[in-house]
Amino acid sequence: MKRIAFLTLFIVSSAFAQSSLDQMIDREIPSLVGTYKQLHAAPELSMQEKNTSALVASRLRELGYEVTYPVGQYTEPGTTCYGVVAIMKNGAGPTVLVRSDMDALPVLEQTGLPYASSVRAKSPTGDDVPVMHACGHDIHMTTLLGTAKMLAQLKSQWHGTVMLIGQPAEEVVKGAEGMLRDHFYERFPKPDFIIALHDNASMPAGQIGYTPGYFMASADSVNVTIRGMGGHGAAPQSTKDPVVMAAQFINALQTIVSREDSPLDPVVVTVGSIHGGTKRNIIPDEVQLLMTVRTYKPEVRKRVLASIERIARGIALAAGVPDDRAPIFELLAGESVESTYNDPALTERLAAALTKGMGAANVIRIDPLMVSEDFGRFGLDRKIPVSMINLGAVDPAKIASGQRLPSLHSSGFQPLPDPTLRGGIKAMTLGVLELLH
Ligand SMILES: [Zn+2]
Ligand SMILES: [Zn+2]
Repeated sequence: MKRIAFLTLFIVSSAFAQSSLDQMIDREIPSLVGTYKQLHAAPELSMQEKNTSALVASRLRELGYEVTYPVGQYTEPGTTCYGVVAIMKNGAGPTVLVRSDMDALPVLEQTGLPYASSVRAKSPTGDDVPVMHACGHDIHMTTLLGTAKMLAQLKSQWHGTVMLIGQPAEEVVKGAEGMLRDHFYERFPKPDFIIALHDNASMPAGQIGYTPGYFMASADSVNVTIRGMGGHGAAPQSTKDPVVMAAQFINALQTIVSREDSPLDPVVVTVGSIHGGTKRNIIPDEVQLLMTVRTYKPEVRKRVLASIERIARGIALAAGVPDDRAPIFELLAGESVESTYNDPALTERLAAALTKGMGAANVIRIDPLMVSEDFGRFGLDRKIPVSMINLGAVDPAKIASGQRLPSLHSSGFQPLPDPTLRGGIKAMTLGVLELLH
């Protein structure tokens, strides 16, 4: 018996990464799935993550982390930035920051799950809205808590400092900025590496995707008001019709991507909302267009924004609109964010470690995305290497069936908790161990 016990111990420690970590996750997964369902059923909107952040903070404190909470500051008066910072020091070595976001979205959940959200809340404009974790930030938080537990139990396997972040208000790209504004890197250690994951609504549950270099796009919110001179719908000759100009403007915008941009530089210009007029026989004074612009490179971003403004002016000029009725171009600074650039060396290093620990079939290179994130802000404009990996969250049977899969932010998004959390916790734990071993 003694010989067998000794032998078992030897095998476990020598093949730690593959078998022992799986067993540790096995033991924790039932309670972590419970935590996931609890978070999923109680989502909170951006800038309102009071209970969510309190839960994350208290769980991390229970695991032995030194927790500071709340951390952060918004510029909006009367708001609280519910950032969580949890630190575990374990001797000399590098510092790794692992970030999870915490906010949910104004979406009516229609998954039919027993733990589906029926929460409603007040939106910033005072409307009563449904709330759902439709971006899977509940998966991210549970993964962070599971990873925190693994690292606390595995202190003999790493040296340095682990810094775990619960970030609020990702969906409105204010949370990272809010935490940084609160003297973040003066109060807490400056990390050598920053990592995070985001769930993915098309990859099988537990599979990891990585992308060195540009991974997510910059996002700019732009409002353009096309101004004309209103009048009777039956007397267009005495007006400057902003509806016709808006139609020309939208068509002309398509040439930014097709004629002005290099085919090798991804750009998206989307007009998501257009409003003008009150009645069929009245030509209105103005039409308002709300747009989102996505790019990767800073120089492309600058050029595209300038093109939108120039085209709007050109359309007005062609229509004979007087200078004092020129279009109004408005870039909403508080709703804009730069692209996420995954440090290539860090990303390749993580991918190699994860491939070794999880198998090549479970760690694949994926294409960059045109969605956006404020995670990269913690890297201070590429001064600190950052890398965000993707975590598949979809039931493989659904993928195999060929049915249309609900995307992130949709009312039907439904991660498969057990295998998704296992994959996320294993990947993040192996990632930190790689950087701190
Ligand atoms: Zn989202
Ligand atoms: Zn998200």
